[in-house]
Amino acid sequence: MASQEIETLASALARLPGLGPRSARRAVLWLVKRRETALVQLLDALEKVRDRLVECETCGNVDTQNPCGICADSRRDQTSICVVEDVADLWALDRAKLFTGRYHVLGGKLSAMEGVRPEDLNIGALLDRAAAGGIDEIVLAMNATLEGQTTAHYLAERLENYPVRITQLAHGLPVGGELDYLDEGTLAQALRARKPMV
Ligand SMILES: [Zn+2]
Repeated sequence: MASQEIETLASALARLPGLGPRSARRAVLWLVKRRETALVQLLDALEKVRDRLVECETCGNVDTQNPCGICADSRRDQTSICVVEDVADLWALDRAKLFTGRYHVLGGKLSAMEGVRPEDLNIGALLDRAAAGGIDEIVLAMNATLEGQTTAHYLAERLENYPVRITQLAHGLPVGGELDYLDEGTLAQALRARKPMV
């Protein structure tokens, strides 16, 4: 029978994506054995994340500053916005260093199964950015999943009456593919071959 402390930590870790109760318990034991080394490093890293990281009020990126480094960078193309589902997708695209504009993070995708409605996503702020003017192109970089594509079509409809070109990622995205799992070459190709959405 594990102590209450171990149970509490294991159940907190088990809520992390990709970590079930069993692997959470193993992670806790691993940390207990390395309490002077790995555990100290983990605590330190967690504390820094808690104290320093904020969400960018413009795009939804996570950074140590608000607006984030990307939004604040005047060398980036101010006329195009790439819309992604999650921050992990933003980072994947930005690692590929091909998109020179700025981003917008929706914070998820429309899902009837999971009960995610348009008002649950960061869509209002995207429409505000489109309405503010000065934006020529909005690239919808949703995952090539059914829900990702449903979200892209919904956004294309909502953006229809704004004076912006709507494009989306094209060839190279495998069906069912999620952006942050793709290699940079595939991502680069999808971005380069983007096509008008409507
Ligand atoms: Zn930002």
